[in-house]
Amino acid sequence: MLVSAKEMLNKARDGHYAVGQFNINNLEWTKSILQTAEELRAPVILGVSEGAGKYMCGFDTVVGMVNGMLKGLNITVPVALHLDHGTFEGAKACINAGFSSIMFDGSHYPIEENLKLTTALVNTCDILGISLEAEVGAIGGEEDGVVGMGECADPAECKMIADLGVTMLAAGIGNIHGKYPANWPGLRFDVLENIKATVGDMPLVLHGGTGIPEDMIKKAISLGVAKINVNTECQLSFSAATRKYIEEGKDLVGKGFDPRKVLAPGCEAIKATVREKMEIFGCIGKA
Ligand SMILES: [Zn+2]
Repeated sequence: MLVSAKEMLNKARDGHYAVGQFNINNLEWTKSILQTAEELRAPVILGVSEGAGKYMCGFDTVVGMVNGMLKGLNITVPVALHLDHGTFEGAKACINAGFSSIMFDGSHYPIEENLKLTTALVNTCDILGISLEAEVGAIGGEEDGVVGMGECADPAECKMIADLGVTMLAAGIGNIHGKYPANWPGLRFDVLENIKATVGDMPLVLHGGTGIPEDMIKKAISLGVAKINVNTECQLSFSAATRKYIEEGKDLVGKGFDPRKVLAPGCEAIKATVREKMEIFGCIGKA
């Protein structure tokens, strides 16, 4: 059964590790992530952007697929199904479809509007036992066609949103979605420390987990980050493994064209990426 992310994140905060959010795009992605989490006894959050939800034929299909896999794969570790960077309408749709966790991203609105819309979701999520992530300070890079500038969140605004009673808070600290440019100056730990000091116990979320050096990830966890989002890195490892299979001509040998064979190296690559991230995040054996 899907669970809210609340308990797993509070445990992570108290235990000084982070839970990984790995975004899913299809059956192979979902299966690979769930199998790795189960094997490593790690709690896990499956992230779904609105674009990926649409690609997978809508949120009902996603919920049906994930619930089917929890049963079919005998998954016993805690799993949250989470809307990533949701609009207000998308959040409502996912709540109705059976998601166990929601991110409402109001970071591109003026703070008053972000407060108003986040407030409207807090009570509903509370009643239904759904965890709710809010965002302050747009995170850089591109997410479903929306390009943020990588600003740093204002700690006072973080406090206002946190005090609404959300479960976890994503705050821009110089992190970027997608690949990091060579001249990226790194995470702003001074900003993270200020935010943490202002919001207190609230588990913090680090978006754009791809390509942040391991020492920075560990430092961020020590400063209160309890959830780290990984999306691009699985895409890169999947496509590299798939390209290798085709370039080596393996699809031309025997029944190598069987889609289950063509996609197998990519699945193994996703598993390796998820395992590597879970080792860094410290969540292995925490289920
Ligand atoms: Zn994000």
